[in-house]
This record gives sequence, C-alpha cells and structure tokens, in this order.
Amino acid sequence: MLHITRASADGVAACRCPDSLMAVPDQSETPWDGSGWQMACHKCGKAFTFGKAVRINMKLRDFILKDLRQRDLPKELLNDPDFIDGCCESIGEMMADLEEGKEYVYLDGMLIPTDHEGPIEFDGIFAAHELTSVPHLELKRDKGAARHLLADPRYWNDRALPPEDEDEELDDEFDDDEDGEFEDEAADDDADAGPAGRR
Ligand SMILES: [Zn+2]
Repeated sequence: MLHITRASADGVAACRCPDSLMAVPDQSETPWDGSGWQMACHKCGKAFTFGKAVRINMKLRDFILKDLRQRDLPKELLNDPDFIDGCCESIGEMMADLEEGKEYVYLDGMLIPTDHEGPIEFDGIFAAHELTSVPHLELKRDKGAARHLLADPRYWNDRALPPEDEDEELDDEFDDDEDGEFEDEAADDDADAGPAGRR
C-alpha cells in the first residue's frame, strides 16, 4: 500500500525518525494546535508537516491496529470491530488517491498534494475551507511563520462547521416521536373513556 512518510524536505518537522509513517490522525477540537494541519509520526508521536507517499509492505488494517494499540485507548474501543472498520474506511479514503513519490500535507481530514493547482474548497472535519493555494507552503519560504494562517484559531473558528453531533439527529427523531406520543396519548385518553368514548 501507499503510505505517507515524513518528507526529507520538511524543514519544520519535530520528528527526526528516518522511517516515520503518518499515524492515524487524532485531530483535536482545537485543530489550530497542529492536529488539524500537521501529521504525527507513528513512532515518536512528534509532528511533521510535509509528507511523501511511499510504498510499504503492510496492510492498512494491520498498520492501523498496531498504531492504535500503542495509544492510550480504552480496550473496549480497540476490540470494537465497528470502530476499527470506521478508522480503516476513513484512512483508506484519505489515502485512496496518493501517488507514489508525491508530496502531501494534511488539512482537516484531507491529504492535499503540495503541487495542487487551483483553489482548494472542501468541508473538513472542523471547518469549511476556501483557499487559493496550499497554505502550508508558506512554511517552506519562512520557517518562522509564527503567525501562520493554520495556527490561528480565528482562521478555524471563522469557518467552523456546525457540530455534527448525533444529539442533533436524535433531537429531530425525538420531535417526530413526540408528535407520535401526543397522538398516542390522545388515543389513550379515548381508550380510558371506554370503547364507547371513541365515537
Ligand atoms: Zn518520528
């Protein structure tokens, strides 16, 4: 399979491992901290920004299991086939279009080739992005780009998508149920009045 290793051209990486691979992304709720626009090394856990697609002799599922097992995750989660399947599916999708030897950056659930031309528009895990170019490239020109766009909470918060939480869906369902319950209650009242009361 094709995987992502730290690109040797990454001058801003904290990871120094010669054989790093992109760990299963663990994007936090504050993606500007780096978790939303950098990759983490599966070995040392440190960040790198520029990755290169390389062929490795391993199955995606095996890599994901190995990577997740070295983290502090609850056992129930690791033994939950639905959770593992979900991880494999989302990482598989993310890596589906990798081209060997190409350089990539991570942004909000997507891997974007750094030679991408034209606008970048997508709804990520956290935010809706509309960019004219790959913003990470600024770091290649200026390592000290401290006020880097992607490290700025305002960039993310200004574009934040409404939280996609299951509660909302449940609320909708609940509303429907409520209507149903109301009818049921009315029917119950009628029933209380006895069969004659229904007419
Ligand atoms: Zn590393």
